[in-house]
Amino acid sequence: MLVFKFGGASVKDAEAVKNVAKIISLFPKEKKLVVVSAMGKTTNSMEEIVDALWNKSTESFRYLVDQVYQYHINVCEKLFPDSHEGVNSFLDELFEGLQNKINQPLSENYDFVYDQIVSIGELASTKIVECYLLEQTEQAIWLDARLCIRTDNSYRNGSVDWLKTQELITTHVSPLLKNSNTIVTQGFIGSTTEGLTTTLGREGSDYTAGIFAYCLNASSVTIWKDVPGMLNADPKWFDNTIKLKQISFQEAIELAYYGATVIHPKTIKPLQNKNIPLFVKSFIDPHAEGTEISASTEFDHLVPSFIFKMNQIKVGITPKDFSFIVEENLSHLFDVLSRAGVHINLMQNSAISFDFVIDNKQNVIKNLFQILEKEYVITVEEGFELVTIRHYDQKTIDRVTEDKQIILTQKSEQTARILMR
Ligand code: ASP
Ligand code: MG
Repeated sequence: MLVFKFGGASVKDAEAVKNVAKIISLFPKEKKLVVVSAMGKTTNSMEEIVDALWNKSTESFRYLVDQVYQYHINVCEKLFPDSHEGVNSFLDELFEGLQNKINQPLSENYDFVYDQIVSIGELASTKIVECYLLEQTEQAIWLDARLCIRTDNSYRNGSVDWLKTQELITTHVSPLLKNSNTIVTQGFIGSTTEGLTTTLGREGSDYTAGIFAYCLNASSVTIWKDVPGMLNADPKWFDNTIKLKQISFQEAIELAYYGATVIHPKTIKPLQNKNIPLFVKSFIDPHAEGTEISASTEFDHLVPSFIFKMNQIKVGITPKDFSFIVEENLSHLFDVLSRAGVHINLMQNSAISFDFVIDNKQNVIKNLFQILEKEYVITVEEGFELVTIRHYDQKTIDRVTEDKQIILTQKSEQTARILMR
């Protein structure tokens, strides 16, 4: 059993969908579960729709919904020149239901509303892909992932109930595989015990692929992307990137922890637990080798990896009563930070101050000031870059710090972290 994941870019228009079908057809004999994201930037558009609904901006709501609807219809017109009743009526119903929401009473829970609406992107894309596959190969079955992925009711960040999900996947997927080699399902979405739709967090489709692979004991997962594999740095910030041929699960977890964005961080652990290899491959060049993520650590140290975080701020916290920073302050501070939703990218403490580096988000900083101002002096400095180098040496450090002012360096055996500007 193979699990494939196709992200938004791989299904962004009719040509892209055709390419997905071509890739799937390269594996005619294997059983495949294919996880598909919303088309192109649909999820971003859906977020705008949620906001328009929430703010009761009727006109812009209607306009935005119509835009997304038209986008999908245009793709269908190109894929199915002779019209396609099934997919058209599916989309009509989906988007009519969405249009009607503006006249209906609205839940007071924003995150709940978000999940009910944003999930439509995945439902639409997978239906289109399924119908196109059916036309091409007469072999594909659409599966509603919400029947399989059970979460709690933390909307926008559903936490997976693994036992129940295992049971549901076994129940729903096995019978389908008797009738077809290819199952098409949605990434990113699940449902609660009450059957209400949840999502797993932005970019969560990789995680969906990991969940299905774990529960189905898949032989591998392949994430098909618009890059040749995992690169040792984001080409946005770095020239001459190198593709990583093979890395370990542990290394992939480390890279994701420091901010590499190629794979959703929650994806790796379930695969590691069952030793299911993960391939990152190019949907543009499907025969190329890509990156293999598996148990072997043999290749981890061969290529240094660079992870850049731009627009960082450094926050310093000093007790007003000149007391030292001791365990009690730290435990209080961590508690406050975690409740304020602060994600610390780097930290350091001295006798009288606790410094940390975070992404520049104004509302978070405001929150912090409100909670801590009474007892602490808080200083904020902006305009930093944080670079993490895995498997560094002096040459790699010199390369990224050239022309920069180094503010802070932290090194462990494998990892160097440098705050600079
Ligand atoms: N469509 C969702 C998003 O863009 C999930 C995903 O693509 O992984 O965040
Ligand atoms: Mg997406």
